[in-house]
Order: sequence, then structure tokens, then C-alpha cells
Amino acid sequence: MNPYAPPEYRPHQPMAQGYGVPGGFAAWPDGPNLAVQKDASLPAVCVKCGAAPAHQRKNQQFVWTPPWVFIIFFVSPIIGAIVAMIVQKKGRLQLPLCDLCLGRWKQGTLMVVGGVLYLFAALFGGIIIAANDLPELGVPILVSSIVVLVVALVVANKRFLRAAKVDERMITIRALHPEAARAILAAAGSAAPLT
Ligand SMILES: [Zn+2]
Repeated sequence: MNPYAPPEYRPHQPMAQGYGVPGGFAAWPDGPNLAVQKDASLPAVCVKCGAAPAHQRKNQQFVWTPPWVFIIFFVSPIIGAIVAMIVQKKGRLQLPLCDLCLGRWKQGTLMVVGGVLYLFAALFGGIIIAANDLPELGVPILVSSIVVLVVALVVANKRFLRAAKVDERMITIRALHPEAARAILAAAGSAAPLT
């Protein structure tokens, strides 16, 4: 070791993948999705409709379970649930939303809650009615329990944002509005082409 040697020159290591600026956050396109660093400070463009400025923030925890866990679910739901809890990855973002899209998101949450409540009520009620010699009424109620829940999930899902993947550092978000994706890439110091 030479004590008079100048300090070792350490060039800034560019990230192998994607874009980022020191002190900022990393973000890069991943196919049709957008990978965004956890807890990134996102620009105020609504992630659902692209409106700017978006005045609301939704504190959103994204949870992602590796797809192979669902194979274990088929074998044993209990072991599957335990494995899912262990291998699940989580990440948080303060999502910018306009008033309208935040309202639609909250309505979506209510739809899912309502669908689940209806499922239990209709299963319970349908079985009792069918068991009381009214199958022509009980069976349609039983069928409706699933139909209502599926419709509620499908309609509500369009009002949310979901993660295609979460890893140690990044959240890969599905179906982000293109304007919001562009603004996020620009804020991350990206050179992504404007399409
Ligand atoms: Zn919006």
C-alpha cells in the first residue's frame, strides 16, 4: 500500500439495466409494463388516466406471489398459503391519482367487499331455501353468488393497478397509463423514446 497514492478513481457505475439519476429513482420499461423503484417519488400524473396535475396520493402496497406457488395450492391449500406468505414480495408506492380515479379505485374496493359479502349471504341463503323444498329459487341464488363475485372482481380490477412482479428493489406495474409512464421515466432521468 502506497500511502501517498491518490484516492482510487471509482467511476460512476451505470446501471446494467434501465435508467436512473443519482438521488432519484430507477425506472425502466419492461415489455408493456413499467418497473419502478420502491418508494420512488412519482410525478403528479394520474397513473390511471394520465391527468395532470393529480392532486391525490394513494398509499399502495403491491404484493406479488411467484406463480409456482399456485401449483402448491392445488396440492395443499394450507401449505400453499404458508409458502406464499414466506416467498411473497412487497413494495410500496405513493400513487398519484386524480380525484375521479381515486374515487373509482375506492368504489372498486367496495365492489370487491360487496361481492364477497354477497357470496357468503347467497351461499347461506341459497342452501337454506333449497333445503326447504324451493330448489327453483335456491339454486339460482347459489349460482348468483359466484356470478356476482366474478363480475365485481372483473369490473373492480379495471379500477386498480396491479404488479406483474415485485423483487428486492423494483415494482413492475401493469397497465399504467402511458402519460404517467412517460412522466415517471422522464422523472427518473430516462432517455426513453417518446412514442
Ligand atoms: Zn385519473
